[in-house]
Amino acid sequence: NLPRIGFIGLGAMGKPMARCIANAGYSLTVLDADMQLTENAAQDLQAAAASSASALAQDSDIVVTMLPNSAIVSEVLSRPNGVFAGLTKGGLILEMSSGVPDMTKELAATAERAGLVLLDAPVSGGVPRARTGELAIMVGGEDTPFEGARAVLETMGTVMRTGPVGSAHAMKALNNLVSAGGFLIGVEALLIGSRFGLDPSVMVDVLNASTGMNNSTQKKFKQYVLSRKFDAGFGLDLMVKDLGIALGVAETTETAAPLAGLCREIWRGAQKYLGPGQDHTAMAQFCEMMAGS
Ligand code: NAD
Repeated sequence: NLPRIGFIGLGAMGKPMARCIANAGYSLTVLDADMQLTENAAQDLQAAAASSASALAQDSDIVVTMLPNSAIVSEVLSRPNGVFAGLTKGGLILEMSSGVPDMTKELAATAERAGLVLLDAPVSGGVPRARTGELAIMVGGEDTPFEGARAVLETMGTVMRTGPVGSAHAMKALNNLVSAGGFLIGVEALLIGSRFGLDPSVMVDVLNASTGMNNSTQKKFKQYVLSRKFDAGFGLDLMVKDLGIALGVAETTETAAPLAGLCREIWRGAQKYLGPGQDHTAMAQFCEMMAGS
């Protein structure tokens, strides 16, 4: 008997992830704050639409959250008609958003007091790999509940264990720190090169055949920056949030990380300059402005 799955947060990532679970044959209940998204997902995925998080949890053995940030996750779990109120003892929460490790640990402790288990299981790979079920999934928490959730997680991608609860959220933020830095330095190189007279498209080809290659040179520059589409599907606001989490981990571990701090300041500057609701690849326009283009 497959566990019944409840999925909360049907945005850019949540909807295709929920589709992977539905396609694997699990019975699914869905919910988003945007009722239109809830209804569309229910129809497209042949899932039940829930009227509240507690109602969703009542009909689920495992609840997945894929929400913008830890504050929202905390609210959706803890409010009177939230997940904690509806889930039966022994129920499992897979917190797949990119969250704050310390808040995740607190939520896991609250869950435990209610006879529930929470694992952090954030993902990397973006919308394209969410669609194909090929995400990198980091998992923090105890082994026994993890084994109970492994099959569901594997419908969405490849699972890697990172340690106790909270460790996956720390790992995810540090991954995005590296990704954010790689994007930034790559865009700067393209701007310098084009001033010199190099063709940016040729530069990307050379970088991808050389040691300067990274995920941005491979998957982002031609697709979203040189094309001027700026529509990778990962929000600039979310990237700035993740960099804040990474810096928070540096702070709590008393790790001096000057480049991480500078990187965050530049991404924050882009957020202020470009305004809310931008794709993270639009950061290139802020770099162009700084370069005096
Ligand atoms: P998104 O903004 O596209 O989707 C978030 C969804 O949550 C929206 O549909 C929104 O309506 C819903 N929501 C907000 N508050 C809610 C509430 N109180 N109750 C129910 N639903 C609520 O964001 P996304 O890009 O799908 O990202 C989700 C999480 O995954 C974030 O933590 C993000 O950092 C992380 N992430 C995103 C990507 C990406 O490429 N987009 C990749 C890896 C990780």
